[in-house]
Amino acid sequence: MSEINLDDGTVLVESQWLTAGEVKQQIEEKMASGDMKFAGLAKALEELNMAMEGARTLEVQPVITKAQYEKLRSLVDGDDRACVKAAITAFIGKGSGAPGVGRQKKAFIRCAKCRARIELPQGERPTEIRCPVCNAVGRLKSRT
Ligand SMILES: [Zn+2]
Repeated sequence: MSEINLDDGTVLVESQWLTAGEVKQQIEEKMASGDMKFAGLAKALEELNMAMEGARTLEVQPVITKAQYEKLRSLVDGDDRACVKAAITAFIGKGSGAPGVGRQKKAFIRCAKCRARIELPQGERPTEIRCPVCNAVGRLKSRT
């Protein structure tokens, strides 16, 4: 999976941030010189195109208090845009920007004993989960 910067529409290829046009140019140059090793470039281009197709610009101008603003700026090193983006990412969870990745919704189950909602832990299966309300312990067998 390539690293993609949605803000300027670039993809990280061999430690260089390239636009779709630049990646295309590199592929064309390789083809022209008979170098057929451009599978990595082609993959990066495809991933960039897919990510940009799914990208959305938020048209909002949230007004927050001075204290909230100062707190935000103390948490994130960068401009306002970077701050807001980091806040959103922290809120919704990390996604790579590519479709189908990072869109996992939080899953819940009901406690068998008291019917309380328990968040399903990510990661290893099988695992034990404990109800935060009644402390009943259950065993998660496999991924749902
Ligand atoms: Zn319970």
